[in-house]
Amino acid sequence: MSRMVYADHAATTPLSPTAKQAMADFWDKRFGNPSSLYYLGQEAKDDLEAARAEIAQCLNARPSEVLFTSGGTESDNWALKGAAELRRGQGKHIITTSIEHHAILHSAQWLEKQGLEVTYLPVDAGGRVSPSDVEKAIRPDTILISVMAANNEIGTIEPIEEIGAIVKAHNVLFHVDAVQAVGHIPVDVKAWNVDMLSFSGHKFYGPAGIGGLFLRHGLRLPPLVHGGGQEWGLRSGTEPVVLAVGMAAALKESVEEMAVESKRLSALRDRVLDGLSDIPSSRVTGDRECRLPGTASLTFEGIEGEALLLHLDAKGIQASSGSACSSASLDPSHVLLSIGLPHEVAHGSLRLSLGRGTTEQDVDYILEIVPQVVSYLRELSPVWDKKAQKPIWRS
Ligand code: PLP
Repeated sequence: MSRMVYADHAATTPLSPTAKQAMADFWDKRFGNPSSLYYLGQEAKDDLEAARAEIAQCLNARPSEVLFTSGGTESDNWALKGAAELRRGQGKHIITTSIEHHAILHSAQWLEKQGLEVTYLPVDAGGRVSPSDVEKAIRPDTILISVMAANNEIGTIEPIEEIGAIVKAHNVLFHVDAVQAVGHIPVDVKAWNVDMLSFSGHKFYGPAGIGGLFLRHGLRLPPLVHGGGQEWGLRSGTEPVVLAVGMAAALKESVEEMAVESKRLSALRDRVLDGLSDIPSSRVTGDRECRLPGTASLTFEGIEGEALLLHLDAKGIQASSGSACSSASLDPSHVLLSIGLPHEVAHGSLRLSLGRGTTEQDVDYILEIVPQVVSYLRELSPVWDKKAQKPIWRS
């Protein structure tokens, strides 16, 4: 294999050397349990609190507003289920969007089974939620609004600050799934007026297995995990200090590098989008302007995303697709259907998410290989009209 190009940073990122070093120092010398009263434990407690303070600063939060969890999925589950429980008696209506991650959608569906009502807002062709749609959906019994900051499949960035301003005028909790945003675009819990915000370490070059939930001061969610009373009694279990230290170091570094790195990545991403959208019967998915710096997503008619991934993998390019088969269902991604793509188009989707290690040469390679693989698969495709060079449903 001539070259390896990792283009799936939205799935997970490699651990940054800075985070790794911070963790190595901890493993070796400061491994105590933060609940222990002797020196080693208190040192670990100091490390945990320093990590919390660092993360809080990156989000413009107070340290006491940052709770450690196992990752984005747990934070999302906690926010939705906790808010529903906290506001039980005040209402039973939740508003979210049709393009959320399954951690939100499946939690919302579970709450529906418990008797809550959920409005799933539509998005426009670029995947943007309209703030006025949010406002129109608010009912007297609405208790929670949950909107993602940036979509994991198409990279669209949502108008969170505008939505936050609307929510502020109502007595409704506002949760933001910022798993794809934190460490990549500026996140400010105060300016956004959020009550809860989810993030996850392995999405910004920190370790996997740790994430967090910002919980606005004064808001006491019911615990999702009961036990020894850690995290102010809200999330029990011995704190993974080493992971917290690694996540904090990774986030600090990502925030410090953000201005320069997002400019560099946006230019690489646009090269990918411009180059690959020259392929006939292709289209860019997601908003062209309001877009995560590293996320390039497209569809290619007449082929299957899964086949594309396997052939790209054989050429050393690791990417992702929102198409079927990776789940047990034959339906393409709910996100691609929500932005109005027909099934047959959504089946040929590709997400290339670039990151810190991506170089101009990697992009050259992507621009060389993807068109070759697309035309190879179209040659084999029963739904591709080789003469007309378009899918049979357009012939
Ligand atoms: N929310 C979004 C938008 C995501 O992209 C992901 C992961 O891909 C999650 C939540 C779940 O995060 P985790 O993998 O940390 O559980």
